Amino acid sequence: MTSVGDAPAAHAEADTSADNSAPALKASVLVEALPYIRRFAGRTVVVKYGGNALAGTSDHDALALFAEDIVLMRLVGMRPIVVHGGGPQISDLMARLGKEPEFLDGLRVTDAETVEIARMVLKGQVNPQVVAAINVHGRFAVGVSGVDAGLIRATARDARLGFVGDVTEINPEVIQGLIDDEFIPVIATIGSDESGQAYNINADTVAGAIAEAIGAEKLVYLTDIEGLRRDVADASSLIRQVTADELDELVDRGIIAGGMIPKVASCVHAVRNGVHRAHILDGRIAHVLLLEIFTDAGIGTMVMLERDEPAEGIPE
Ligand code: ADP
Ligand code: MG
Repeated sequence: MTSVGDAPAAHAEADTSADNSAPALKASVLVEALPYIRRFAGRTVVVKYGGNALAGTSDHDALALFAEDIVLMRLVGMRPIVVHGGGPQISDLMARLGKEPEFLDGLRVTDAETVEIARMVLKGQVNPQVVAAINVHGRFAVGVSGVDAGLIRATARDARLGFVGDVTEINPEVIQGLIDDEFIPVIATIGSDESGQAYNINADTVAGAIAEAIGAEKLVYLTDIEGLRRDVADASSLIRQVTADELDELVDRGIIAGGMIPKVASCVHAVRNGVHRAHILDGRIAHVLLLEIFTDAGIGTMVMLERDEPAEGIPE
């Protein structure tokens, strides 16, 4: 029988044991991170932060947590580069301006007015939001758009889509300069053609192209689902590891749809062009970047060129 008087004692006991184990747990987490910190020191990681991840109901908290992860990566010697989307925010402003978004095969039809709206939202709203969230922690982030120093050269994809661009060339000098100076580039994915015409470019595609151009170690997509599913309707069908060839087959079988198509295409292209690993992670999980990069717990989907044994237990 438990008397009222026993309860505080029981609590006190529980608290004491928690107090004893908490420092040990914290220490073990830090020690677990050590080989990863050593492995990734000086390495470049391109992180694409989805517009949907930003647009969620708790968008402010999600962005603040994301910013902490990026700053921590930078402070332990990694070189993070952030590429952000903004689709929902563009649709939002269009709605406020009374303009109906129109899609063709999942791509936004972008007339002259729409590309202006896209540029305003990406470079004027989303980009400074991400930059400011990171710079709460110090003087790290610098916002650039694909127009700066010819970073993203583009050409029209299809006349019916208007100013939707395909990447023709990445000129990474401006971001190379920034990371050499230990800044964190935050990139808005507006590109321009030779005449200076602006184009809206899929942020997934840009992230992959930049990862390749800069010789990144990792390409990471933060999205609104736990990773790649074998069956998009079945949450238990998460694919934990997959090779580029296996992904080609999944694409052929029509298993990859909608917003996942440009991510998967970029992952496949990137690992075939020198990027060591690509990851598709759930941006809704708090500190998912830290969990993936600095702990033994594999999370989300990891894409590799081929399945190979890690040399002498060096973490991926
Ligand atoms: P983001 O803003 O991160 O680019 P998208 O909506 O463009 O987000 O892309 C992610 C979406 O892709 C998921 O929410 C999911 O509905 C869709 N999707 C299509 N095929 C798959 C698949 N095989 N596995 C997981 N997600 C998929
Ligand atoms: Mg998308």
